[in-house]
Formats: sequence, C-alpha cells, structure tokens
Amino acid sequence: MISIRNVTVDYGRGDKSVRAVENISLEIGKGESLALVGPSGCGKTTLLFSVAGLHRPVAGTIEVGDAPVLGPRKEVALILQNAGLLPWKTVLQNANLSLLLHKEFPANSADAVLEDLGLAGAKNRFPSELSEGMKRRVGIARALSTSPSVMLMDEPLASLDTLTKERIQDLFLELWKRHQFSQVLVTHDIEEAAFLGQRIVVLTERPARVKAVIENADMGELAYRGTETFMKKVRQLREALES
Ligand code: ADP
Ligand code: MG
Repeated sequence: MISIRNVTVDYGRGDKSVRAVENISLEIGKGESLALVGPSGCGKTTLLFSVAGLHRPVAGTIEVGDAPVLGPRKEVALILQNAGLLPWKTVLQNANLSLLLHKEFPANSADAVLEDLGLAGAKNRFPSELSEGMKRRVGIARALSTSPSVMLMDEPLASLDTLTKERIQDLFLELWKRHQFSQVLVTHDIEEAAFLGQRIVVLTERPARVKAVIENADMGELAYRGTETFMKKVRQLREALES
C-alpha cells in the first residue's frame, strides 16, 4: 500500500542543505499499522510529510497504492500535532477543512463523523471552548471525513494527560480496526508505539535511518496494554532507542 524506497530528504540545496532523512526503505501493507519512533529532531515529521506529498525527496521513490506520490490527495489523511485546528473556525468548519481542500464540501460534510466521535453537540463551538481531548477528536474527525485508505499521524497525542491520551489511543485502535486503513503513527511515546504499531521502526539521530524494526504481532486488543508481553515490548523498544 505504501512503498518507501531508498528515500533521502534534504532541506535547502548545496552547501547549506540539511539532510533530514537518509536512504530509508519501508513497505507498509494494506491495513497494516506501523509506528515510527526516534529522537526529537531526527526526521520523523519530514518522512511522514514526504509520504503525505508535502515534501519531495531528493532521492528514492514513494508510492501509495501503486501510484507515485506527487502531492496531497484525498485517500491520504494526515493528523497533525496538536490537531492543527484553526481557532477562528467552529468545530464543524474545522472538521470540514479536508473535504473543502479536496473540493468535496458542501456535497459531503463531516457531520456524520462528528456524530460518531461524540462531537455532534459541540459542532458550533470554537476550539478555545473545547478540552484538549475534544480538540484531538476534531482533528481525527477531519482526517476521517474523506474516508481515507491511508492514515498518517504526527505525534497526535503529544502533551495530553495520561488518561485522556489512553482513551484516544483506544479510539485509534478501534477506528483502525473498523476502517482498515493503512496507518503510520509517528510518536516519541514508547507505550503508544507498542499499543498501536504492529511493526515499530526505530530511527537513528538525524539524518533518520532505520535503526531497528520490532515486530509487535500481539497488539490489537485494548487489554494488550495490561499484559506482560506489552511490558516486554516497551522495554525492548526503550533499549533499541537508547542503544
Ligand atoms: P522530528 O519530527 O523527528 O522531530 P523533523 O522531521 O521535524 O524532526 O526535522 C528533522 C530535522 O530537519 C531537524 O533537525 C530540523 O532542524 C530540520 N528541519 C526541519 N524543517 C526544516 C526546514 N524547513 N529547514 C531546515 N531544516 C529543517
Ligand atoms: Mg516532528
């Protein structure tokens, strides 16, 4: 579904260029969930944005569903850090932004998704009137509104309190199982990676290269978080990151 082959991404050109991603190859199958972890500033966002069609690699190729990535598209949803809500727009307007971008609004609207996420009663409110958890759910509603086959997430739950974070991680698991999209989750939260990634890729310091790939076939149920296997996986990930 997503094919990343020998991808290198630089910022700028010539002497002053900064290499953020170096020679990364990853295959993510249809309906697969991959977590990407790595040190702050290593190049995670750069790689994810390249898959989203927002950066152009200087070398290598990225394909989504057998077509080269040339720019943003409807099938590929992106959940940004801090949800990326516009403060001057209501919940409903914020949720409709992706549809608007892809010229599908007003024929289609995010109303049903908001309802599904328990936000119907809040649709005329502004972001400043929402809890942090609700803001993240509006970001999720926006991403789901276009019925994507690929879900890309950039530290979607950073700076939430633990309980709110775990509740939304549960929601992510449920949505992934229900919609069966291919998923790439960028996170610096080791437990989040172990809860949501079937495969976890550990990246090096900048420029990001693949340092380790950890299989996590036992994930997929809410109860996984409380198991010994989960704890072991978290320890294994921590060691891979620190080595
Ligand atoms: P991460 O998401 O892993 O924290 P990023 O992908 O955002 O890291 O950034 C990777 C590296 O690229 C960082 O060291 C950052 O300083 C650099 N970088 C990011 N954006 C730019 C830019 N627009 N111009 C120059 N360097 C950048
Ligand atoms: Mg980042």
